[in-house]
Amino acid sequence: MSLTELTEAELARTGLRLAFAPELEARYLLDIGAERSRELRNISQIAMLLYFGLGLLMKVGGVIHESWQDCLLQLVGLPAALLLLAHYCFRPKTSNSVREASALACCLIACLAAILVAYVKPATTQDLIVAALPANFVLMFMRLRFPLAVVFALVMFGSYATAVVFWTGIAPPQRAFLITFIAILCLPALIGVHSLERASRRLYLYGLLQRLRLERLAVENNTLTVLSLTDPLTQIANRRRLDMALRTFCADAAEGGVMLLIDVDRFKAINDNYGHQAGDSCLQQLVERLSGCLRRCDLLARFGGEEFAVLLPGVSGPEAAFMAERLRAAIQARPFAVEGAQMSVTISIGIATRNADTVPETLIEAADLALYTAKNAGRNQVRA
Ligand code: GH3
Ligand code: MG
Ligand code: MG
Repeated sequence: MSLTELTEAELARTGLRLAFAPELEARYLLDIGAERSRELRNISQIAMLLYFGLGLLMKVGGVIHESWQDCLLQLVGLPAALLLLAHYCFRPKTSNSVREASALACCLIACLAAILVAYVKPATTQDLIVAALPANFVLMFMRLRFPLAVVFALVMFGSYATAVVFWTGIAPPQRAFLITFIAILCLPALIGVHSLERASRRLYLYGLLQRLRLERLAVENNTLTVLSLTDPLTQIANRRRLDMALRTFCADAAEGGVMLLIDVDRFKAINDNYGHQAGDSCLQQLVERLSGCLRRCDLLARFGGEEFAVLLPGVSGPEAAFMAERLRAAIQARPFAVEGAQMSVTISIGIATRNADTVPETLIEAADLALYTAKNAGRNQVRA
């Protein structure tokens, strides 16, 4: 299954499971890595602020009168803050899973310490309610991944319920109330964590699908561009590419530059005698040999049929005559082997030199005229 298909299948899937198929999950974790890292750092700072802020507000607002609240804040806040500092400030390269684990550890330490402090002091029911509150703020604002949030909620609920059950100072109706209270706090928080993670995962999938489609379009676009500029038989530049190159060639500020127009001599006879397939193979071999004689900066293009054009930038007339002669000689030097037969081939070449006011049309016209002269002079010739 391709990544696109996996993404589409994942978007169509209903149900409560959050994790994607392994391949997609790996890509997801990789893509959101940096963002998630930032989010974990920011959220934990906010959580710490809320945590201390809430404690202070309750103290200042007169919700809590007992003096042990200060002790509780210290006991709970200190280890949590130290852990956060160790993982979020001093070790910026920490992996996200370690950050998450340390976030979970902070939540657990903070909440268990709250229960412990409430347990060892002669506390009231109100103290226990207050001790349960930070648990849910931390859970919600830490944005733990759902499985970690479940672990956290279970440990929290378990320890809190155990503390309440074994606490001799509480009457049975109060116990039931307290256990229901913490369950009511944990459950919506867990549902919230789940929906939030599900929503952000789906949002990611839509974005990924869009990106994958754009990537595929870009590749297809690129292939189409290459195809639209390439001659399918010989794999060299086609007429469209030549026309584009000619415009640039003629607009070049630098002096010089020559265009060669090459025509295979009596090519129709090759087709007639050996067949069209042989003619095609002959054209392919011809292109291969011509390419071998050219520089990297030269452009060899199929002008049409058995005619080819060569753009030689920065070349003067005499140099071009020398290069054209070399091409002509290279083709004549050895016959082409086609389907077991040896085919002797020659070419005629017309040369046109570019000057300051040359436009593509006049350059082609001049090269064509020179080629015509070469043909008339008996073929297998070079004419300027
Ligand atoms: P000349 O020396 O005057 O150029 O003679 P010629 O036979 O080469 O010229 P003509 O223009 O009469 O014939 C060109 C032939 O090239 C006709 C056409 O069938 C053949 N041709 C054009 N394109 C292709 C091609 O892609 N493959 C094959 N096999 N033949 C082609
Ligand atoms: Mg021709
Ligand atoms: Mg010809």
